[in-house]
Amino acid sequence: MNWLQNKVIVITGGGGVLCSTIAKGLAQRGAKIALLNRTFEKAEKVAYEIIANGGEALAVACDVLSKEACIQAKEKVNSVFGPCDMLINGAGGNDPRGSTARETWEPGDIDPEGEPKDGSFLSLDPDGIEAVFKLNFMGTVIPTQVFIPDMLNREGSSIINISSMGAFAPMTKGFAYCAAKAAVNNITQWLAVHYAPAQIRVNAIAPGFFSTEQNKHLLWNIDGSPTKRTEQIIAHTPMKRLGKPEDLVGIAAWLCDYSASGFVTGAVIPVDGGFMAYSGV
Ligand code: NAD
Repeated sequence: MNWLQNKVIVITGGGGVLCSTIAKGLAQRGAKIALLNRTFEKAEKVAYEIIANGGEALAVACDVLSKEACIQAKEKVNSVFGPCDMLINGAGGNDPRGSTARETWEPGDIDPEGEPKDGSFLSLDPDGIEAVFKLNFMGTVIPTQVFIPDMLNREGSSIINISSMGAFAPMTKGFAYCAAKAAVNNITQWLAVHYAPAQIRVNAIAPGFFSTEQNKHLLWNIDGSPTKRTEQIIAHTPMKRLGKPEDLVGIAAWLCDYSASGFVTGAVIPVDGGFMAYSGV
């Protein structure tokens, strides 16, 4: 039996690099995919590609930070596909206002007048930090609140949050992003416990380092050569490469498949080429 056949899977951020690949992989396995994305055109493009390959997909414009928009998106999904069986909370990302420019504190971080230098921890914009928390944390909480009623007491319901390597041990510079993803890990476990009696499994995937739109300025120089950071990442990755979006499809399919992962809940699963397992020596 193909558990995913005709299952309705809602994917927030489904127009993005990683989640569009996950969406296509799940569609190939027979699921009906609802792509919720703030920028409608990005979701629409992915939906066209899925449909062109014989799959079923629906693009919905939705800002995950608006409960009203998520409720409207749910109504749309329900009217076209029926109740949501699974939710993948993929909308997320970073904002330079929540990151430092340098890896560690430097003496020049405060100028002689006592003013914090741009790019120092002391100069981080509270609004920027909040924006990163909102997108990654509330952007997971709000769709979860809205779609859970569809999933209650239906065998095989599953929520997958998208975390990050930075959630376990923070990466330098990414102050707000890593903290927000750590909070995503935490609520993955909280929700798993809370909704176990309602048969909803809640897990997370923690991708390691993937080269995508949101982090390309950190990973690649303008001439296309790897940055010092990319060299550090590869050196610390036993498999000696960055992740490819396709590396996430199997784990997402497995977590959606109740017949394969039906006793797995509250887990945060790294997909990182061994990055987290490696102590560096
Ligand atoms: P991406 O920028 O390609 O995709 C994110 C998508 O979310 C975009 O389509 C964007 O339009 C959408 N989005 C942003 N804000 C939104 C909002 N408020 N409402 C609805 N949609 C919104 O990024 P990606 O690299 O594919 O990342 C996907 C997820 O994976 C994110 O949660 C990210 O934090 C996480 N992640 C990425 C990496 C990596 O290396 N790229 C590593 C670990 C975790």
